[in-house]
Amino acid sequence: MTVRTRFAPSPTGYLHIGGVRTALFNWLFSRRHGGQFLLRVDDTDQQRNVEAALAPILHGFRWLGLDWDEGPEAGGPYGPYYQSQRGELYQAAVNQLLAQGAAYRDYATAAELQSEREAAQAAGRQFTYSRRWMAETPREAERFEAQGRQGVVRLKMPRDGELALDDLIRGEVRFAWASEQDHVIQRADGSCLYHLASVVDDEAMKITHVIRAEEHLPNTPRQVFIAQSLGYAVPAYAHLPYVAEPGSKTKLSKRKLDKYLKNRDFTALVDRGGRIAARLGLETTADTFNPVIVDFYEQIGFLPDALLNYLLLLGWSFDGEREEFSRPEMVQHFSLERVNRAPASFDPQKLLAFQDRAMQRLPLAEKAARCLALLQRAGLAGEPPGEEAQRLLADVLAAAGDRVKLAGDILDYEEFFVDDQSFPYDAAAVAKRISGPAAARDLLRRYAAELAGIEPFTAAALETHLKEFVERRGVKLGDIVHALRVAVTGKAVGFGLFDALAILGRSRCERRIGRALAL
Ligand code: GLU
Repeated sequence: MTVRTRFAPSPTGYLHIGGVRTALFNWLFSRRHGGQFLLRVDDTDQQRNVEAALAPILHGFRWLGLDWDEGPEAGGPYGPYYQSQRGELYQAAVNQLLAQGAAYRDYATAAELQSEREAAQAAGRQFTYSRRWMAETPREAERFEAQGRQGVVRLKMPRDGELALDDLIRGEVRFAWASEQDHVIQRADGSCLYHLASVVDDEAMKITHVIRAEEHLPNTPRQVFIAQSLGYAVPAYAHLPYVAEPGSKTKLSKRKLDKYLKNRDFTALVDRGGRIAARLGLETTADTFNPVIVDFYEQIGFLPDALLNYLLLLGWSFDGEREEFSRPEMVQHFSLERVNRAPASFDPQKLLAFQDRAMQRLPLAEKAARCLALLQRAGLAGEPPGEEAQRLLADVLAAAGDRVKLAGDILDYEEFFVDDQSFPYDAAAVAKRISGPAAARDLLRRYAAELAGIEPFTAAALETHLKEFVERRGVKLGDIVHALRVAVTGKAVGFGLFDALAILGRSRCERRIGRALAL
């Protein structure tokens, strides 16, 4: 048997990180077993433009490197992979269920159902439809239709006994058939509902393992009933616990950003991203810039593998200790037996720690490539980048060391990549370090005059020279270093001053000091 798993997103216009966790587990399981991973688009209820609402989802998958063997764009032998294009198959399944008596046409009005429901509630018993408006023959159907009623198709669920389901994560789960309703599978307008479509597609696409969020566990009995009635092989089910909110067991939601921002760690993550977004001029509404959505991480320069490694541990553990896994290691070690049953809380601090470590391990050339993409988005490097921009980037990264934790952090050093005439000066830093101290401007002027003679123009030589310079003038190092830093970078903080001077080079330093003095 070839393992075939699927992720079946509704085209919502965004990719939720809980959804990615589900997709990742499907992907890993199929890769682990040499099988296939499919994407199927659950667009039975779609009002809006499917392509537009699907694009960010596919984009997210591509960015994360979660490749799909069949589905939108990839095609495949069991297509189309859009439910909206598979109506005929669903209709055939409905017909078969009706012919077998596993489903029936129902003509109850909403008001009639409601009054049955209320009566059950008043009597303190569970609601079970009386099937009074069920039509099992064309004749009965005609009679109801003559009354102007519209029919839907309902499952004729068993009312005795129970279903014992062997869930690969939760173990045996039992459902009493009596507590199941006669669910609608086809509406009066002929459109079919997700439950039917999903079962028909899983069979047609030869899905062997349905790995999905636990909110679908209550849907499983009706889906098993449909599959069994149609003579399908019932797939193995694995229901994953939620990705929960920070510090709680409630499902993480994209709409509760305000609430999450009361959490310090969550705010720290949003703030770090926000700093980068501001430099990129990105819109930062809850719809577009939200850590619950995968896009957020791409925009600020997260490493996809760090995000996946974190999401892997959000619901799975290896031996309770080891946490770092490369992508091949994830594939090698993944198993459904080690998925936790309890929801795992999204922990922004831990996520950032994964990112920080992954970034530190990254070879310099790869780090540079990632940062370059962010510089290009900010308009600070051309496409392709010039030689000078690449040299600057390599030098800045070497000097900044592990200060660059997100690729977007490179924008903290934008002053190296901008024109000497146009980079901004931090007014407060200028006031405090250049305009304020009496000796600062005179020292800067004299220092600038000596720049021409410093050979070679390296960090080490610059350091030796400056020490000698302050000794000669009988001043302290502190009297000039702060002013000098502000003069050449525009800011009060940054990495080593001598590195900054050497990276900029002699003539840029001269120009910048000149500009600072003119200010
Ligand atoms: N479209 C469903 C969802 O997004 C898929 C559920 C399933 O995997 O069966 O939740």
